[in-house]
Amino acid sequence: MKIKVLKGDITTVQVDAIVNAANSSLLGGSGVDGAIHKAGGSTILEACRQIRNKQGKCNVGEAVITTGGNLPAKKVIHTVGPVYQKGKNNEKEKELLTNCYENSILLAKENDLQSIAFPCISTGIYRFPKQVAAEVAISAIKNNPILNEVVFVCFDDENYEIYKELLNNE
Ligand code: ADP
Repeated sequence: MKIKVLKGDITTVQVDAIVNAANSSLLGGSGVDGAIHKAGGSTILEACRQIRNKQGKCNVGEAVITTGGNLPAKKVIHTVGPVYQKGKNNEKEKELLTNCYENSILLAKENDLQSIAFPCISTGIYRFPKQVAAEVAISAIKNNPILNEVVFVCFDDENYEIYKELLNNE
């Protein structure tokens, strides 16, 4: 399994599947979710609606898959990250964030997809400390080397520096 880190916009990355940091409604939001729906077009939202009609909301830590619409990626895997609660024991949230990464790669594998790109799930509006979130993300992927290629796409400099540091110091 190859692991890469990129700085930029995940909607432009050419992989079999990109992952969306969705919310449990699956009906779109801001941040990376908004960018994916904007760039990918309405077929993605339509597919999300159909999933919602069938199964209801998507729980935190779970993942669903749709078309990639107009994106270079074939598919979008939508996963719902946990909201970080400040000042509490955050083991539960770390476990839920691990589930996001694990369930996304399992869903990719089930769909015969070999390469996947992740945004830094939960580090935007959901307020996860970036260092902790990156450690969780990298361990989750390394503990499950089931795909050929995993790309971490960092939108901001801080995340990019954290991932580069963690991935180089092994
Ligand atoms: P969450 O609600 O899971 O925190 P956000 O979308 O608010 O989701 O943020 C998750 C991460 O995605 C943040 O690090 C944010 O900087 C990043 N991000 C925002 N837009 C993009 C994009 N177009 N491509 C990749 N990452 C993005």
